Amino acid sequence: MSDELDDFRREVQAWFSANKPADPGFLLPESFMEVGTDPQFQFLRAWQRKVYDAGYLGMAWPQAYGGGGRPQAFQDIVNAEMARQKTPFVPNTIGLNWAGPLILAIGTEAQKQRFIPGILNADDIWCQGFSEPDQGSDLANTQTRAVRDGDEYVITGSKIWTSLGSYAKYMILLARTNPQEKRYGGLSFFLIPMQAPGIEVRPIKKLTGEYGFTQTFFHEARVPADCLMGREGEGWKIAMMTLTFERGATGGQAGGLSRVSLGINDVIELARQSRRDGRPALEDPFVRDQLARFLIEDQGDRLCAARAQVPALCSERPDAIPLSAKLRTSEYRRRLFQFALSLQGANAVRWVGDAAAVEGGKWQRTYFNSFSSTIGGGTSQIQANIVGERVLGLPKD
Ligand SMILES: Cc1cc2nc3c(=O)[nH]c(=O)nc-3n(C[C@H](O)[C@H](O)[C@H](O)COP(=O)(O)OP(=O)(O)OC[C@H]3O[C@@H](n4cnc5c(N)ncnc54)[C@H](O)[C@@H]3O)c2cc1C
Repeated sequence: MSDELDDFRREVQAWFSANKPADPGFLLPESFMEVGTDPQFQFLRAWQRKVYDAGYLGMAWPQAYGGGGRPQAFQDIVNAEMARQKTPFVPNTIGLNWAGPLILAIGTEAQKQRFIPGILNADDIWCQGFSEPDQGSDLANTQTRAVRDGDEYVITGSKIWTSLGSYAKYMILLARTNPQEKRYGGLSFFLIPMQAPGIEVRPIKKLTGEYGFTQTFFHEARVPADCLMGREGEGWKIAMMTLTFERGATGGQAGGLSRVSLGINDVIELARQSRRDGRPALEDPFVRDQLARFLIEDQGDRLCAARAQVPALCSERPDAIPLSAKLRTSEYRRRLFQFALSLQGANAVRWVGDAAAVEGGKWQRTYFNSFSSTIGGGTSQIQANIVGERVLGLPKD
């Protein structure tokens, strides 16, 4: 097997070197949460299709639905190579990494056949309708209503921060089917078409000036009754399962890169180029000390991720690494990029498009975007609560 994997690694390195797309000449988003223009979307969708057609996406998913049917180790090699070569990311993150694994885990045969191929080849982009204007962290308080009417459900309400809402063909939706049950029990889970009459999306401008998500309105939108996943009232259980895929606590994702971003090595290079007291900032003892700390954390996270692949090394607290990973890595990135801005002195305030901005202002954009993953998928405070309760056994109060 290891010879086979080595051969495969060489094949993958050669393919991505030869096929990595040229710079499109416009600014690409850093992740699926920032896809804001049609050219960006079309470029990224074409890239996902190309990677899939080459056989490098969904490698461990069943062949019956368009997957590769191979061991996960092959997909891991592809993911690592895409990151190493800094290729563009594949945009259907919600489909590939949480809706898809969910459908494969608990969907009906008909749902698997209908949805999985389009997720892989990027024909069908997915979005997620969980958060509402008045409830994000408190998901159990979902107010959007779904009422059964013959062969349809009628949906009324509003979801917000819908990443990819402008481009999605389907949404995973959490809605209340039983208003008598105030919290968990009255919720149901749906796989709905975004083109259904009565669904309206309004783009929302982000901190960076980009458009990456929408508010999604349901004006008595009618969807077929077979959009229901599982049974009525099971929505909370299915939403929680979705979040374990989203937060990386459960495997089964189709793979591919879901973010392209700067990292610690880029910050070291920035420190080499920046000046402090007339000398390269990299020579400053304080800067060196900070960089060493970031490097240690980075290496610690990599080793933790590797350790999580070996069950025998995690048997004492099997959930500790997956549940804490999102919290650790998102907060790490936010601090790292804040430090990168501090290296720029007064230039730190310059934005993308300012001729005097360091490297075109890309650090500023990355810093602002780094807040996304400390909020999306559950805020850091909520993640800390989860780790406290489920891993450390601390009381809820
Ligand atoms: C870039 C981005 C993309 C997103 N994409 C999507 C998407 O595609 N689909 C979707 O459904 N949602 C999406 N979201 C929404 C995201 O899931 C919510 O923003 C998040 O769950 C927080 O909800 P909220 O914004 O309502 O904040 P609130 O829940 O109102 O929280 C406000 C503050 O209070 C804190 N807080 C709340 N409850 C507690 C508690 N019990 N203990 C301690 N502190 C607490 C929070 O940590 C936060 O600091 C996205 C968000 C971002 C930033």
